Amino acid sequence: MLRCKQVSDALASGKYWELPRRKRIGLRMHVALCVVCGPFNRFIMLMQDMTDHYVKHEQNDPPPPDMKLSEEARKKIREACRQNEATS
Ligand SMILES: [Zn+2]
Repeated sequence: MLRCKQVSDALASGKYWELPRRKRIGLRMHVALCVVCGPFNRFIMLMQDMTDHYVKHEQNDPPPPDMKLSEEARKKIREACRQNEATS
């Protein structure tokens, strides 16, 4: 079984899913069982999973054109920001 330090070092790459399958399984086993680093590293793995999911979603399914702000709306927001900056 991996040691806590080995698990933390492996997770420090930010993309644990790119590790070899055998090491990933070891990571998951350790994180599931370890009372010392398990809760924290489970959270780190969850955050990395969510980040990966978000990036893939943004690449494969960008917002539809009608969800984007019109140029007129952008102009109004810019003007409002400038006025807000000038008054503060
Ligand atoms: Zn541990």
